[in-house]
Amino acid sequence: MLKFENVSKVYEDGFKAVDSVDFEILEGELLVLIGPSGSGKSTTMKMINRMIPHTDGKILIDGEDITKLNAAELRRNIGYVIQQIGLFPHYTIEKNIAIVPELKGWDKKKIKARVSELMEMVGLDPKTYAHRFPKELSGGQQQRVGVARALASNPRVILMDEPFSALDPITKEQLQGELISLHQKLNKTIVFVTHDMDEALKLGDRIAIMKDGSLLQLDTPEKLLHEP
Ligand code: ADP
Ligand code: ADP
Repeated sequence: MLKFENVSKVYEDGFKAVDSVDFEILEGELLVLIGPSGSGKSTTMKMINRMIPHTDGKILIDGEDITKLNAAELRRNIGYVIQQIGLFPHYTIEKNIAIVPELKGWDKKKIKARVSELMEMVGLDPKTYAHRFPKELSGGQQQRVGVARALASNPRVILMDEPFSALDPITKEQLQGELISLHQKLNKTIVFVTHDMDEALKLGDRIAIMKDGSLLQLDTPEKLLHEP
């Protein structure tokens, strides 16, 4: 459903951060992109999100070239969760989750119902947390809000760029487990970036290994572990 055809990225200074990458993510798959710092993972994610343009090749969502989608269509198709959480500090949790539905002009009732449903889904009681502000929540709870926000408009693909890396080990493990259940329940296509192999093996249906802008290998955890 998400396809890279010979995609490259050359930054303005001439540096080639992604070099002729080819892969396809299947519907409902959780694909982990792993690689050392500087290997081109974030650049790849930003190109999917069109935050930065690719220099060469094609990126397709369900056969449609992403350069042909307008900004609204792109947002409808792609949800994004980043490491630095990025909640708006002066908005309540409810308001933070409602941003995209509001931009899309849903009516108030529908938004309220959707926000409650999403908060339940990520394990935050709406009665307790809907009207709080981000700083009144722990890091793990804020990251749950980030996930709820990314799910809000029911996008076809969710991009998660090291969403758990700033969390303490216990919270991280808990959220990893919850992401696995959520993924099984929603059957959502997810691209998850990490530099942690344990996390990759735990979460990934398949794992794509990047190095110096190239895709070295793409396989299931079982194959990666058992084949030389
Ligand atoms: P990763 O996410 O795997 O750590 P990135 O995609 O962030 O890697 O970066 C890949 C390479 O591209 C790095 O060498 C980085 O320094 C370089 N890079 C990232 N952003 C820019 C930019 N705006 N201009 C030039 N080079 C960049
Ligand atoms: P506009 O089309 O209004 O100029 P941009 O596409 O430049 O908006 O994005 C504005 C902000 O929204 C950026 O900070 C970007 O990180 C964020 N953003 C862009 N696309 C998405 C998306 N699919 N999901 C979530 N946030 C997004």
